[in-house]
Amino acid sequence: MERNLVMIRTFRGSGYTIGHLYCGSQRLCDTLEDEVRELPPTCPDTPQGRACGCAGKVYAQTAVPAGRYRLTFRQSPKFGRKMLALLDVPHFIGILMHGGRTAKDSAGCVLVGINSRKGELTGSKECLAALEATVKALERRGDEVYLYVINGFMA
Ligand SMILES: [Zn+2]
Repeated sequence: MERNLVMIRTFRGSGYTIGHLYCGSQRLCDTLEDEVRELPPTCPDTPQGRACGCAGKVYAQTAVPAGRYRLTFRQSPKFGRKMLALLDVPHFIGILMHGGRTAKDSAGCVLVGINSRKGELTGSKECLAALEATVKALERRGDEVYLYVINGFMA
């Protein structure tokens, strides 16, 4: 069956975005991404495998659009192992969920950890391991995992 993880973005910082990741009612960890920017609903480029040239996109400084994306493991040349990847994200190619500390460590990817300081994550390694284990366990049961990305900002 289809299973949803939910990421609710709650805070827009200067150059970064903080959110929280849930599996059902269980809060898994916090998330840090690049800035959320206004993008067109569809992209003429990335479905054809070309880099996005849309207005509004700032390369490596833009978070993925709100939406629901398949989340599964894909071999990453950069990390040299299978990583959690978000599939078919408009305007983006090769979006992963991985560890990191600040928005400098992300080019649109979703960083996981604990948001213990302003604009920073700690404990990324442990959080990523727990998230990967959660998805792996669901996939082992034959489930398909999706990530809901929700802009839950208060005004
Ligand atoms: Zn685009």
